[in-house]
Amino acid sequence: MTVMSSLLDVLIETARRVLVNAYAPYSGVRVACAVETDRGIFYGVNVENASYGLTICAERSAVASAVAHGARKIKRVVVLSDDVVPYPCGACRQVIAEFATDDCEVIVVHRGEIVLRKLIWELLPHTFKLRGAQQ
Ligand code: ZN
Repeated sequence: MTVMSSLLDVLIETARRVLVNAYAPYSGVRVACAVETDRGIFYGVNVENASYGLTICAERSAVASAVAHGARKIKRVVVLSDDVVPYPCGACRQVIAEFATDDCEVIVVHRGEIVLRKLIWELLPHTFKLRGAQQ
């Protein structure tokens, strides 16, 4: 096993462990996310709200936690769900891109299988960016 694949295993296990904490009383779709950053591994889950538009996805939840802990570079993102194939939505792709390294990967896991593994730049080509990002 390579170092990279063992780190990936840790990310997947982290997402698996927190999946139970997803708050999804309306959709019943539980999603968890773990991100590898310059400050370590952080995670998040989807948090739904009675006012549906206020729902936050697991990916943005994880990125917010990472940034709150001082992280500014995201190297890898694991998104995991057993209920749906959890491809990141457009908003989350943009939020991940804000902090993504040039080789940042997004790995989508559904029912224990990796169903997608691509660079964030492949998922979000022609990314909107402003100068001064990642400071
Ligand atoms: Zn999203």
